[in-house]
Amino acid sequence: SIVFLNDSFMPMQQAKISPMDRGFLFGDGIYEVIPTYDTKLVGFGPHIARMQEGMNLIGIKLDWTEDKWREVVDALIEKNGGGNLGIYLHVSRGADIKRAHAYPNNVAPTVYAFAFEIPAANVADKAIAKTYKVNSTEDLRWKRCHIKSTALLGNVMHYQHGFEQGCNETLLFNENNELTEASACNVYVVKDGVIATPPLDNQILPGITRLILLDILTKDGSLKVEERIVTMEEVENADEIWLTSSSKEVAPVVELNGKAVGNGEIGDVWLAAQSLFSSGKYNY
Ligand code: PLP
Repeated sequence: SIVFLNDSFMPMQQAKISPMDRGFLFGDGIYEVIPTYDTKLVGFGPHIARMQEGMNLIGIKLDWTEDKWREVVDALIEKNGGGNLGIYLHVSRGADIKRAHAYPNNVAPTVYAFAFEIPAANVADKAIAKTYKVNSTEDLRWKRCHIKSTALLGNVMHYQHGFEQGCNETLLFNENNELTEASACNVYVVKDGVIATPPLDNQILPGITRLILLDILTKDGSLKVEERIVTMEEVENADEIWLTSSSKEVAPVVELNGKAVGNGEIGDVWLAAQSLFSSGKYNY
């Protein structure tokens, strides 16, 4: 595949970075993943805004406009043949000559981008939808989960915990047994037709799919949705559990810790929500 590194496009095999890059040594960087379905980007503006906010929060100075990102991303999509792609963007603080914790002066950030294939957009059809089995554990990551940091070891270890038990996600709960998110997704519960998801704070990533879904649900108005604390008890007794992320859209969970969620089948509220999400009526 063709990737972008610093200021040029090249085959992935030719892309080289310094072993002194702080992204490599410290996980000192910010990243983004933007989905593209049928060569059409979803949520480009909010994704770039979140990445810029992350860079501001950690003091990486890269003066790229949204238009500059758009040029690079459009070219990357074109050079990789379009279709259904995840666009990965990564800005690390750059390579210094020494390994020192303090932010270096006069070091240019490293910008890296590549495209990878993702499944086609979800279809609002219970017979086709991909379902998820999850387990759960205490959220042992740091207290800055709103920053989309490239330092993902905490998330990787949580995902692996589920994976080793035959699951494809792990739900995370804070020390008060309140739901935070999953290792790479935001989480929702449905009870008696009402959708609830944890509020935005330092415990979760402000997901762009979450932003889009909540906006669609609010505009449509036919389903009730609440942003509030969700307890472990509520998760265990939910009629439906969903995950959202850029490459999953709205994904139904049918099993939690080896037990069926609701009746163990994809729920009707998921169908209604994914139908709105897929309708094409809302453009992001
Ligand atoms: N939470 C975490 C920890 C994530 O890594 C991700 C995305 O990968 C999400 C939530 C979902 O965010 P988005 O919808 O922007 O992909």
